[in-house]
Amino acid sequence: MTPGRTLRRALPLAGEAASVWFRYNFLEPLRPAPSLPRAMHYISTHRCNARCAMCGIWKNQNPLSEELTPQALGSILADRLFSRMEYFGLSGGEPLLRRDLIQLTSTILETCTRLKRLSVTTNGLLPGRMENTLPELARLCRRAGVLLDVSVSVHGMGETLDRIYGVPASFERIERTAGLLLRMRTEGALTFSFNTVLLAENLESVRRLQGWARERTIPMSFVVGEQRQRFFTEGLESAFLETKGNPELIGFLASQAEDPAQSAVQMEKYRELVRVLEGRGPRRLSCYYAMGGLLLGFDGRLYYCSHSREIGDCTGRPAYDLYFDPGNLRYRKQALFGAECHTCPPYTRTRWEIEKDLPRMLLASVRRRMGRAAR
Ligand code: SF4
Repeated sequence: MTPGRTLRRALPLAGEAASVWFRYNFLEPLRPAPSLPRAMHYISTHRCNARCAMCGIWKNQNPLSEELTPQALGSILADRLFSRMEYFGLSGGEPLLRRDLIQLTSTILETCTRLKRLSVTTNGLLPGRMENTLPELARLCRRAGVLLDVSVSVHGMGETLDRIYGVPASFERIERTAGLLLRMRTEGALTFSFNTVLLAENLESVRRLQGWARERTIPMSFVVGEQRQRFFTEGLESAFLETKGNPELIGFLASQAEDPAQSAVQMEKYRELVRVLEGRGPRRLSCYYAMGGLLLGFDGRLYYCSHSREIGDCTGRPAYDLYFDPGNLRYRKQALFGAECHTCPPYTRTRWEIEKDLPRMLLASVRRRMGRAAR
């Protein structure tokens, strides 16, 4: 690409980044109520084919009849609350168990007309279904001008992964899934990455997995396993790492923060994660839920974020009214922003969040370059 063409492409992006930085750091905090949300996560089902050691959702699977149909989802998304939606995450349970995933996706693309990116999170254990479904999802997204991104949850290799997933030969399935995603990435149909939960028994295995993924240029992101009511983790405590002052865990994350093979954005994320886990002050990196996001449950219940209490049921009351209900907004400001956010680990790094953290991300980029030059 010629320098002139690069500049012509870079300038609008830089302008947009500067505008998000200014608006969300200086204008939004002055508003009495938040703007319309621009990012959401939809948990399409609580049904799952895995039997994960650190998640109890599979023991509490919902009947099919409780899931929003594509029509019901469309009615909810038609509410003005969703009229500015740009980033849409779709997960489960396992979303590929939804036989109507293509219709659900069509509904999302037809109702959220400003969408820029659709992210699908899967356990990667159903390569056959993925081969049958993903090309059509990619086609729909391309037609709508929306970037399709797939996040595959993989927590190790070999027997370790089998034990964590409770599924035999799980890595063989992951390899087949990765093969499909690599082919589709080469065709420009999507982007994808591995998302790995750090647990009591997998630190060694994920190091091997990271080497395997790097050989194939698959980006990988680590999160620390968390015990949460939403994942029904009661009784599963032994699966999790001790997070407070655990030298092994901190050492692993600190090595990621200094790893020159990581992007500047990821390095900064791990630096911040270590800081929060070591109790050296509240979280400073932005969160898209706090900037203006929401979470929609498989049955139509609404939440401000993955740590929020339920704020109402969209099948009984308009989503806009729930989101802007004065009591709910008070809860958002006091219990979430005033307390929960301080210790909430920074895992997502969407473009929107990066733009809000612009000066810090530029510094992280300079720091990475200088670190590389010094090596
Ligand atoms: S609690 Fe965490 S996920 Fe929720 S808004 Fe705060 S930082 Fe974001």
